[in-house]
Amino acid sequence: MAIVTRFAPSPTGFLHIGGARTALFNYLFSKKNHGKFLLRIEDTDLERSTQAAVDAILHSLKWLGLEWEGETVFQSKNLKHHQEIGLELYKRGKAYYCNCKPEDLEKMRAQAMKEGKKPGYNGHCRHRGLTAGALRLLTPEEGRVTVEDLVQGPVTVENAQIDDMVLLRSDGTPTYMLSVVVDDHDMDITHVIRGDDHLTNTFRQYHLYQAMGWDVPQFAHIPMIHGPDGSKLSKRHGAIGVEAYEEMGYLPEALRNYLLRLGWGHGDDEIISDTQAIEWFSLDHVGKSPSRFDYKKLDNLNAHYLRQADNERLVGLIVPRLEVAGYKLSPLHLSRLKTGMNGLKQRAITLKDLATSAAFYVQDRPLVISEEVRAVLKPTHLELLQRIMPELEGQDAWTVESLESLAREFAAREGAKLGEVAQPLRVALTGSSISPSIFEVMEILGKQESMGRLKDFNEI
Ligand code: GLU
Repeated sequence: MAIVTRFAPSPTGFLHIGGARTALFNYLFSKKNHGKFLLRIEDTDLERSTQAAVDAILHSLKWLGLEWEGETVFQSKNLKHHQEIGLELYKRGKAYYCNCKPEDLEKMRAQAMKEGKKPGYNGHCRHRGLTAGALRLLTPEEGRVTVEDLVQGPVTVENAQIDDMVLLRSDGTPTYMLSVVVDDHDMDITHVIRGDDHLTNTFRQYHLYQAMGWDVPQFAHIPMIHGPDGSKLSKRHGAIGVEAYEEMGYLPEALRNYLLRLGWGHGDDEIISDTQAIEWFSLDHVGKSPSRFDYKKLDNLNAHYLRQADNERLVGLIVPRLEVAGYKLSPLHLSRLKTGMNGLKQRAITLKDLATSAAFYVQDRPLVISEEVRAVLKPTHLELLQRIMPELEGQDAWTVESLESLAREFAAREGAKLGEVAQPLRVALTGSSISPSIFEVMEILGKQESMGRLKDFNEI
């Protein structure tokens, strides 16, 4: 049997980090099993669904590299068919009309609570033979259903606990529960992998499949993601939308790796490539309890993937950030960034850091050097800088090796440490007390630019 999974977000906001992980698990499970991964936008709540949210979800899924197969399915386009299935159930005697008013339903709920039962519809119209109203599914009163959930294990619910859910509202529009089941059936979904907030819906959906005589898919309900403090992940914990992570400068492969490890494990492996992820993924290694979001781990992974990333790609990713910061980039700037990227990326955690730390390569003279940075230099540093400048001026071979040996010899003659010579050079050339190897910076800037920056610094 070919495996088909789907991700079925409701477009009422950005792609939540929890939704992204659900999409990733669906994606990996289908790839691992040589199946298909489909996307269905559940846009039937017309008041809450927006085009902006649809765009944000599609953008984030693509950015994360979770490409789906075929056309995106929009649930709202299938409503007529969902309605037909509702009516078909009525014809088969599996559904009935109910004309209870909202206040009647309220009374039933109150009564059930009083009797210590689960609040719900009491089946009042089951045998009244009505031909209009809201259409409800006739759910068996006896027996029980056990769902062999691929993450939660067997979960059993007594049918007496399940009330007759509404399939079509009295205006004829299908409910979400009906639409989900019909679409999953039509799309030949074999595995429904989703958040465990949908676990209780599963039992109602099960009866609907049964009533239509359709194969019931396998279910896997994955636990929620919690914040570092153990409570449900919310805005209070910081960014919860995928786009915010893109904006903050995380790489998609780092977020993918992070989300994969969040709630799923393969021994002690922390860094897992896409190929390994597909090869190793299985639902039985998804944990049953909620996982906690750990920003530090994400940072570590991102720093790792930045170091691994292709330099040209990284230049392409920081250019827009530098442009937004107001820099006009010339071909010379771009070539400096490309040559300097190896050194720059060793320290960065996010693309934001990387862009900030790369800015000195594209700044025009004279550099603006803050008082705070100047304050790291002692008078001896400044003297050493003044004394090394004529020697640098006389240096023709402007390479890392020759500049470093010049500085070493100079430091030895002065009875100073190499760091005491390097630090004022660093401040004057980069405007910062932290940078890649200063000799590498000098080689990349070239003699003319380097000497110009040193003179500017001395004159201010
Ligand atoms: N549209 C639902 C949601 O966004 C998902 C339903 C499902 O996966 O069955 O929570």
